[in-house]
Amino acid sequence: MEPTAKSEITIQGIAASRGIAYGQVFLYLQSELEIPHYTVDPDKRGAEVARFEQALLVTRQQISQIQDQVTKNLGEEEALIFDAHRMVLEDQALIGETIRDFEKSGLNIETCFNAVAQRYIQAFAEIDDEYLRERAADIKDVAKRVLHVLLGQSALNLSDLVEKRIIVARDISPSEAASIDRSAALGIVTDAGSRTSHAVIVARSMKIPAVVGTNDLTTKLQNGDWVMVDGYEGCAIINPSEQTLFRYGKIQKARETFESRLMAVNELPAETLDGVAVTLRANIEKPDEVALVRQYRAAGVGLYRTEFLFLSAAKMPDEEEQYAAYKEIVAGLAPAPVTIRTLDVGGDKPLPGAPQLFGPEANPFLGFRAIRMCLENPEMFKDQLRAILRASAHGKVELMYPMISGPEELARADALLAEAKAELTARGQAFDTQLRGGAMIEIPSAAIAGDLLAGQSAFFSIGTNDLIQYLLAIDRGNNRTAHLYDPTHPAVLRMLRQIVETGHQHGLKVSVCGEMAGDPLYVPLLLGLGVDELSMTPTMLPAVKFIIRAMKLSEAQALAAEALRQTDPKQTQALVEAFYQERTKAG
Ligand code: PEP
Ligand code: MG
Repeated sequence: MEPTAKSEITIQGIAASRGIAYGQVFLYLQSELEIPHYTVDPDKRGAEVARFEQALLVTRQQISQIQDQVTKNLGEEEALIFDAHRMVLEDQALIGETIRDFEKSGLNIETCFNAVAQRYIQAFAEIDDEYLRERAADIKDVAKRVLHVLLGQSALNLSDLVEKRIIVARDISPSEAASIDRSAALGIVTDAGSRTSHAVIVARSMKIPAVVGTNDLTTKLQNGDWVMVDGYEGCAIINPSEQTLFRYGKIQKARETFESRLMAVNELPAETLDGVAVTLRANIEKPDEVALVRQYRAAGVGLYRTEFLFLSAAKMPDEEEQYAAYKEIVAGLAPAPVTIRTLDVGGDKPLPGAPQLFGPEANPFLGFRAIRMCLENPEMFKDQLRAILRASAHGKVELMYPMISGPEELARADALLAEAKAELTARGQAFDTQLRGGAMIEIPSAAIAGDLLAGQSAFFSIGTNDLIQYLLAIDRGNNRTAHLYDPTHPAVLRMLRQIVETGHQHGLKVSVCGEMAGDPLYVPLLLGLGVDELSMTPTMLPAVKFIIRAMKLSEAQALAAEALRQTDPKQTQALVEAFYQERTKAG
């Protein structure tokens, strides 16, 4: 039964797992759990707490079973995501708060646990950080399991699906995703979700094409409808016409060929056609990403966002804990260099382990963030500096300060670095005595006064994500202004050129570690502007390497010069797109 009689509708979402799939829909609509609400007799309150503890235990066993199953099917690395789930179950804050709420209110434990879990989910979901928002998904998934156990209902799963179908759901939890039979799931589309959701990671590892964030696709479909899932462009096409099917047949072939061309360069050097080698490094958030850095042959790490160690912890990690994490990365990648960035929290990234450090702020992005917060908490900052210094004894470390706005801040950070070094010397602990700090250039004032920073800085690393936001006065998290966030704005290009020129005049290496560096469209522009090094999400390395190997540096320089002459960002965008297409077309 072909669908051509119905009209075709395209729904745009987010491309989450590459590939194209076409088939009939299996609408997976989990019903909301009904949570009873009642008061527990005072003499039964001990038993209620015991019931809660038993439910946590049973849930833990369930998660271990799923983890074993996923380890068997997908390997240990994919199964690691369930460690995060077990951590939720062991979270003393979540459990303690539930019991305290219960003791205070006397309401049944499901009600108390659900209320506390919802508060946590809400708090994480509001954080403007994709990785941390995913922690909300972990808590949601685990809380649902615990509630199912408490209510004596079995948890939903997708393993009943046996016929080949496109799974369309509001959201899919990691454990639900793990129970999917690969041979039955042609594709996955969800209303909610982001590129880094754990369910998507599982889909990607099973090579199931997936699109997330379609908002309300589930309301537009019925079981048995036909859908095309385009995991490259991030769209779902309901009832595709014959023409669309034909077009997709061709696209799929071309994409498959292109993917294999991309992966074919993984082992090859990042070298332009005129023989210029480009250093490509990886951005990481956690020590377990060292494996990805190796897999994608990155020349070390260009940005390690240390705040993730702090943001997911209930209490501030001390020097020893930090040292262990930093050492694992540095020793794991030695002799390749690892750029460790000091804490960038505050503003939209509150510190759960030290809420007392922050108060309410009207403009958090312009507020008490990153180096500003560290300089006002010197003991906390020195804990981190000593941990980084100690890690430098195990390989090659570069130290980077975020959100530097001018020379005075850099000097104050360096003074604390000198104190941290003296303290380690007094303790007799080893570190790289030559280690110096480098400034991230991500505030326009730092770019304009770059010459005043250069003498004190070991290198410049441009954070385009924040630089563009602050230069254009565009809150990148605001939907209404997102379209104005433009890397090809003439002011952005001029500023990038100025930073590179200033850095080079002072003999400094200039790298880019913002998202622009991992976008193959903008890579020629950055290299043409003279950027020395690029650091990006590990999985983007092959695509970036591919364009580097397909162009001459001299051509990229001509492109940058032409881009700098443009007044309209759209023209510049058209130029970079034409440059890219010309060099990546098959042939
Ligand atoms: C940047 O601002 O470009 C950057 C790399 O830092 P973050 O995205 O962590 O703010
Ligand atoms: Mg930044």
